[in-house]
Amino acid sequence: MSPLKSSNGENEYFARQEALKLRKLALKAQEEMAEDEKKKLKELHYMHCPKCGMKMQEIQVNSVSIDKCFTCGGLYFDAGELEKVSGREGTFFKSMGDVFEG
Ligand SMILES: [Zn+2]
Repeated sequence: MSPLKSSNGENEYFARQEALKLRKLALKAQEEMAEDEKKKLKELHYMHCPKCGMKMQEIQVNSVSIDKCFTCGGLYFDAGELEKVSGREGTFFKSMGDVFEG
């Protein structure tokens, strides 16, 4: 094996390692950007009405928290909150009456 060939092989190896490293960095940067975008989106949309985009208020109805948009009257249930409602629908929807009035 000539010294030149061996050195070329080494260069190739390091070039490949370098390329792998750069690719990993690029993927990481992309991931971080996606996380950043997600965070920005959440900040932008958090507690905003999905219909009219106005701020919603969290209200408690029979110890179930509901996000209500007082602008268009929309109601938004958090995950699992609607399930809490079933089983005591009667009292819940009676309480909801007050919410619809307000
Ligand atoms: Zn709304």
